[in-house]
Amino acid sequence: MPTYEYAPVEPPGCALCCYGFERMQHLDEAPLTQCPACGLAVRRVIGAPAVIVGQGHVLKEGNIARHGFSQYRRVGKGHYEKTTGDGPDSFGGPDTQD
Ligand SMILES: [Zn+2]
Repeated sequence: MPTYEYAPVEPPGCALCCYGFERMQHLDEAPLTQCPACGLAVRRVIGAPAVIVGQGHVLKEGNIARHGFSQYRRVGKGHYEKTTGDGPDSFGGPDTQD
């Protein structure tokens, strides 16, 4: 069964739909028109976006640095490593004292 992604038609939506949510559906199943949690109108998003920045600005990973953003991935408890962008290479590592 394919997974479809939904996003609210009019952001922000609720805790479930504000960043979009995924739903497994049969191919012949009708698309959802409402968020199952808050009942707001939702629309089906074609293709999963790599990153969502702000409201509806979808950037592919390679475009993040070009737009002046840095992206980090979590590598441990409170420890992040940079994957792209101009920011520090990592932060919150085991050597860091709070
Ligand atoms: Zn909702």
